[in-house]
Amino acid sequence: MKVLVINSGSSSIKFQLLDMQDESVLASGLVERIGEAEGLIKCELRPDTDAEEVIKIQEPVPNHEHGMRKAVDLLTDADKGVIKDRSEIGAVGHRVVHGGEAFHQPTLITDEVIAAIENTIPLAPLHNPANLDGIKVARELFPAAPQVAVFDTAFHQSIPPHAYHYALPIELYEKHRVRRYGFHGTSHKFVAGECAKVMGKKLEDVNIITVHLGNGCSMTAVEKGKSIDTTLGLTPLEGLVMGTRSGDVDPAIYAFLARNCDMDIDAIDNMLNKKSGLKGLCGMNDMRDIHSAIEKGDKMAKLALDVQTYRNRKYIGAYMAALGHVDAIVFTAGIGENDNIVREKTVEGLEAFGIIMDKKVNDQRVKKPTLLSTKESAVQIWGIPTNEELAIARQAVEVVA
Ligand code: AMP
Repeated sequence: MKVLVINSGSSSIKFQLLDMQDESVLASGLVERIGEAEGLIKCELRPDTDAEEVIKIQEPVPNHEHGMRKAVDLLTDADKGVIKDRSEIGAVGHRVVHGGEAFHQPTLITDEVIAAIENTIPLAPLHNPANLDGIKVARELFPAAPQVAVFDTAFHQSIPPHAYHYALPIELYEKHRVRRYGFHGTSHKFVAGECAKVMGKKLEDVNIITVHLGNGCSMTAVEKGKSIDTTLGLTPLEGLVMGTRSGDVDPAIYAFLARNCDMDIDAIDNMLNKKSGLKGLCGMNDMRDIHSAIEKGDKMAKLALDVQTYRNRKYIGAYMAALGHVDAIVFTAGIGENDNIVREKTVEGLEAFGIIMDKKVNDQRVKKPTLLSTKESAVQIWGIPTNEELAIARQAVEVVA
């Protein structure tokens, strides 16, 4: 079966077409700057083969439907395309950011499911409407293909009440479902599964701390294959220090800034999400730029790196306590896979807890599952590339089957 995976954002659509017979990628692409004066459609056809072809089209993309139609035209192009016709697509898998408490697993999309996703819009006002746009367009373009929603929050629905409740008046949960949901679930689940495989163990027999460090960052305590705690909360702001998001702050910061700094709720929300994190501390949110700046003596860049890696280490300690016994720590995503310095500083000083990194082996960008700890380490440290598209496609196939 060929599966099209769609990750629809407010001004972009990422897509990947996979042949699930051998899980090969037939095409991978991105439609960017939807609704702006100049848009970009980029598509790699047959990547990872000798016949790879990269197509870039610069033109206005007024809306998601136009963008998706353009992408399908490239996939089905008579000369260069990878499928003859749209009907070859057997299923469409959609990344949906927030499934609230309604969705514990990937779900076949029906009108009722769309209504339930609409109900969670207050919990993810930026993401869910954009995800719904992608779903609506795909239903029109591929009317015969089953559409499957794969939720970022679903993997974390196993978190027990003592870990998902905030200590707030309980009515806020009862009336407005204010609680920890957690995100990046598809990635955490995928790398935990891959880690058990490369350890030669069953997922049900191991406890793993998964550390997803990209532009967004989160950590999950995975006990016998189930998420029992995670750092992102009601929204994707809590926990670790991210590219532009603050992670944990004293919640009284809202009152302080409103009273003393002439900021309203929207300004504070915008600051915490878009102007904080690494960027807030040193003006840069890409780790590669931060390392170059540190080499040139930039003290604020060094501070940003220190703040992020210290927070990572603190949460590793917290999740060791939550799990009781830990078999492995897994680093993944843009920083987790590529940045040996962040990995090394994150586990620095944890030798007494049986976490011993092999610094020589760690000194590389991880392209496949790689053991980064020494033989003596009681807890294995792994670098494992995440692959959310493949994870979504696999889940779409399971649902359709
Ligand atoms: P992601 O959100 O998983 O795509 O990760 C994006 C982030 O990964 C970027 O903002 C960079 O900070 C980081 N990143 C990507 N490549 C590298 C690299 N080679 N070295 C260090 N950090 C990297």
